Amino acid sequence: MNQISRRGLCLVLSAPSGAGKSSVSRALLEREPDLRLSVSATTRKPRPGEQEGVHYFFREREEFQRMIDAGELLEWAEVFGRFYGTPRAAVEQALAAGRDVLFDIDWQGHQLLRQALPGDVVGVFLLPPSLVELERRLHGRGQDAAEEIARRMDAARDEISHYADFDHILVNHEFHRTVDEVRAILHAGRTARARQPWLPDFVGGMLKV
Ligand code: GDP
Ligand code: ADP
Ligand code: 5GP
Repeated sequence: MNQISRRGLCLVLSAPSGAGKSSVSRALLEREPDLRLSVSATTRKPRPGEQEGVHYFFREREEFQRMIDAGELLEWAEVFGRFYGTPRAAVEQALAAGRDVLFDIDWQGHQLLRQALPGDVVGVFLLPPSLVELERRLHGRGQDAAEEIARRMDAARDEISHYADFDHILVNHEFHRTVDEVRAILHAGRTARARQPWLPDFVGGMLKV
């Protein structure tokens, strides 16, 4: 009954930009050593401090298109006029090895991932306490120009309208509490019956004696 025989799960964190997705992901990865982040490919330019292969695989549009055509992406979507996608190989290897994977992807990515990996996805949607607070956080982060923030505030309404696609909804009021809640969701997901292929044999053996 070793841990390896459990299939890994996909923990998807989605939210309107600025709701706290990246901060929550970072805290989660620090506290959950068995969780690894799916690093997306994107055609957007790196922000200051963002590293190739750590935050994203930064690619030109032509190379991104080649990855799509070659089937190297599990899902991809256009967000804010740029392309974002999930490289397939790393995710499939991790799940087969019983490791859980965290995804910071938008609502479209969540839907497509559910289709690509039926039964493997646990979807969590983070809501900001209000749109006023969302805009405050985007300004407070200090990483996007005013025009980009305006674009993200417009997109936020659309992103929020998809909340009902997700298994779990959290309002990110207090940061540490949000992180604890996402951890509880991860832990509960790990023990879901459907994710324990060894279970029928185990119980069968137990009842035989
Ligand atoms: P931030 O998360 O808003 O700070 O900004 P990012 O540039 O990191 O992410 C921009 C958008 O792309 C967000 O809505 C992400 O959820 C989404 N995104 C990131 N990676 C992926 C991915 O691999 N697939 C999909 N479908 N969306 C992604
Ligand atoms: P996202 O990845 O969803 O765009 P970030 O994680 O970058 O969002 O968070 C946006 C800003 O809001 C950051 O400056 C972050 O420190 C701040 N933030 C995140 N969660 C909270 C919270 N619960 N309360 C107050 N500020 C928060
Ligand atoms: P940012 O440009 O702020 O890093 O990300 C913008 C949006 O793209 C975020 O909402 C993020 O979740 C989403 N995103 C990032 N990577 C992917 C991805 O691989 N696939 C999809 N569908 N969306 C992504």
